[in-house]
Amino acid sequence: EKTLHIVGGGMAGSEAAWQAAEAGVPVILHEMRPHVGTFAHHTGNYAEMVCSNSFRSDDDEQNAVGLLHWEMRAAGGLIMEMADRHALPAGGALAVDRDAFSASVTEKLRAHPLISFEDREISQLPTDGTWIFATGPLTSDALAQAILAETGTEALAFFDAIAPIVHFDTIDLSKAWFQSRYDKGDTEEQRKAYLNCPMDRDQYEAFIDAILAADKTEFREGETAGYFDGCLPIEVMAERGRETLRHGPMKPVGLTNPHNPEQKAYAVVQLRRDNALGTLFNIVGFQTKMKYGAQTEVFRMIPGLENASFARLGGIHRNTFLNSPTLLDDQMRLKSRPNLRFAGQITGVEGYVESAAMGLVAGRLAAAEIKGQTLPPPPRVTAMGALLAHISGDAEAKTFQPMNVNFGLFPPIEAKGGRRGRKDRYKAYTDRAKTEWQSWIAAQE
Ligand code: FAD
Repeated sequence: EKTLHIVGGGMAGSEAAWQAAEAGVPVILHEMRPHVGTFAHHTGNYAEMVCSNSFRSDDDEQNAVGLLHWEMRAAGGLIMEMADRHALPAGGALAVDRDAFSASVTEKLRAHPLISFEDREISQLPTDGTWIFATGPLTSDALAQAILAETGTEALAFFDAIAPIVHFDTIDLSKAWFQSRYDKGDTEEQRKAYLNCPMDRDQYEAFIDAILAADKTEFREGETAGYFDGCLPIEVMAERGRETLRHGPMKPVGLTNPHNPEQKAYAVVQLRRDNALGTLFNIVGFQTKMKYGAQTEVFRMIPGLENASFARLGGIHRNTFLNSPTLLDDQMRLKSRPNLRFAGQITGVEGYVESAAMGLVAGRLAAAEIKGQTLPPPPRVTAMGALLAHISGDAEAKTFQPMNVNFGLFPPIEAKGGRRGRKDRYKAYTDRAKTEWQSWIAAQE
């Protein structure tokens, strides 16, 4: 069969359909709305933005999400074209008029001669045909059950409990130190998987006060089912008692601070390596509903993190996502059923832009396959490639949580003649990415 089936007409499914159809492959787009709804969508339009109307930074020289915009534009992306057409003034960010945006995406898809539509819920994983599943964070229950049956319960999550992720090069190593608790691990590499930040009693007490006082986001209706099965947010632990964190994720046992071996820490914040490159570390057990501004302030009270820059902040949301590093190959196919691809937020990326981006790649990969060609995945040094490499293998599978695009996912650039400033480094990343992205696109034309 020469048709590509796409399930879900959100950010990812819409872009995937466009890319495949533009490559000359007939597409059937299966979307359950408006017959079956979700708690966040309100219309029957494709590419509905369920919450904020921002595509975040549009700076393609200093910001990884801006670079992703650039790459999608260079690939003729429908989502970016319509976002640009309906952009609202918002400083350096790309904000869009959400209704006009999704109406125009819908119109463009409906007008495409190679795209047809089936408005229904898909609740099984098909055994034949070529499919992309882009059913998003609110994948319908029936389909989620079918995916669970295929992947096992360990490999599909219904909530993300995201611990904040810090750029390694912004951690102060004159205060923090590498050590795994009780020096567990056989290799030097394993012992260096953890970084520790010590607190004395006063610091700990001030930290608890700050957590209790911080602004928090409320859960939405319909969002909380099953929430307490997962991990508790740190503020809930702190509310249960001032000592709870010190006996939980901040316990100071099994560790010796080489900067101050005589004095035992009162509490220790542990960070764990988050990617193979060692450029990102997550703060262990620190999932939270504190607001973003409050998080930055509170977490910079941790000794060693005074100047930390965050690749992403913590959160807890309703979110259906796969353990992609174990389940997907670098063509975004389910290893156990290679006729099925996944794309969008269900693959463990986070946000409108990243989801659309993964739809763009999946659409191109699937179209090439149907045409009997093999398209290599996008180069590792592009924003698209870095994100794809992360979800399809680079990320630590055990602690896998949804990810925004960020420069920590990029292979580092060797400094010529000493350490570069951050601005120079980001410019070098984006220059390198643009060149490689253009060659990847050109090779398909
Ligand atoms: P979606 O855009 O959700 O599209 C999935 C589509 O699949 C939907 O149209 C759905 O109806 C359909 N579908 C589901 N199951 C089936 C089925 N079985 N059969 C057929 N169709 C099906 N991101 C941001 O960048 N900024 C934000 O402020 C933001 N706020 C959010 C708030 C909430 C409450 C939620 C849930 C998410 C939020 N996100 C936000 C994340 C954002 O929604 C996603 O990143 C993005 O929409 C994901 O794109 P997607 O294509 O993967 O999924």
